[in-house]
Amino acid sequence: MADLSFLAQEVKALREKKLDWRHYTLESPSVPHAQVNGKNVLMLCSNNYLGFANHPKLKAAAKQAIDQYGAGNGSVPAIAGTMDLMLTLEEKLAKFKRSEAALVTQTGFAANAGLIPQLVGKGDLIISDELNHGSIIDGVRLSQADRAVFKHADATDLDRVLKEKAKTARRVLVCTDGVFSMDGDVAPLKEIYSVASAYDAIVYVDDAHGDGVMGPEGRGTIHHYHLENQIDVDVGTFSKAFGAFGGYVSGIHALKEFTFNKSRTWLLSAGHPPSVWASVMASIELLESEPQHLKTLWDNTHYFKKRLREMGFNTGRSTTPITPVIVGESAVAHHLSQRLFQEGVFALPIVFPMVARDQARVRVMMNAALSRSDLDFALNAFENIGKELQIVS
Ligand SMILES: *Cc1c(COP(=O)(O)O)cnc(C)c1O
Repeated sequence: MADLSFLAQEVKALREKKLDWRHYTLESPSVPHAQVNGKNVLMLCSNNYLGFANHPKLKAAAKQAIDQYGAGNGSVPAIAGTMDLMLTLEEKLAKFKRSEAALVTQTGFAANAGLIPQLVGKGDLIISDELNHGSIIDGVRLSQADRAVFKHADATDLDRVLKEKAKTARRVLVCTDGVFSMDGDVAPLKEIYSVASAYDAIVYVDDAHGDGVMGPEGRGTIHHYHLENQIDVDVGTFSKAFGAFGGYVSGIHALKEFTFNKSRTWLLSAGHPPSVWASVMASIELLESEPQHLKTLWDNTHYFKKRLREMGFNTGRSTTPITPVIVGESAVAHHLSQRLFQEGVFALPIVFPMVARDQARVRVMMNAALSRSDLDFALNAFENIGKELQIVS
């Protein structure tokens, strides 16, 4: 064996800076009353916004698909036959998104990493919001195109970059998250679209945290702004509010065909187990037929945020179910999270380098399955521990 001592050394260095990841063992489904590390806790960090991950309809659909189609799908869909179940999901998703066509990809990460480097290459330009998700950043790194960033959620700054750099580029791609995962704010898509279209730039929105959360029936941030059929590329995930797994690319027919033929993550990696597609279809049906989940998610969000702010906590610029409780120093965020866990509330710290050094936080994710008494239990813990740690007075 080679000298592998660097493996342990590098992890140790992370641990010393408190930048390492540790497992919390989830011993139950991802539900509000979960069991973590042998303890009953209130789950406040799952992306299972609507409680669909453990919904009986998703589970039943998955079981039926296993009986009908098996546990795996056999290969890369393009190579060994695309199961009709996946094609049915793509049609259903395109209808849900009001788009011409949709392609189901392995994950949201894979959609970005596979598509971005094909859309733009040498002689092109990518302009990215400075706070975009890491999977967009990796997609950008795989492209030969020139890169630039614009200030977070700032269409005026995007205009400045376009003015400076767009002229000499063959094609320009503007990438943004729909909802930003660390701060819970929403991209100003109307302004971004209007600035970008003046330069004929392609607009690419990754709506992983907006899918199932934003817009009518949870159709996403693009629909929240009524920009369907204007934004060029809608990418997202089924692993968050949809409660299942997988990603997608939605837009015009030609975009689907292009991605199908060129995305390397799509062409070189197998399709999902059929049970995944069946669960995602059940999610779409729930979003369309049971509006109460989305309504409760937003009711919970407004209540929780309002109470936190009344107590004096800083929730930053969040306007969505992603609720950062910003405390400043990393050590305080770690301490707050540990004390919350002791009191039975599970929410993890987010620290540098994921956020700026002085912006460490505990990130709370709201959920439709949380009851009012669950929320009050959590708020009570935040208030008591916030006072104890002198975060609020
Ligand atoms: C979570 C997330 C992803 C990754 O989605 P997966 O389907 O889990 O790979 C991509 N983009 C953004 C903005 C995300 O928040």
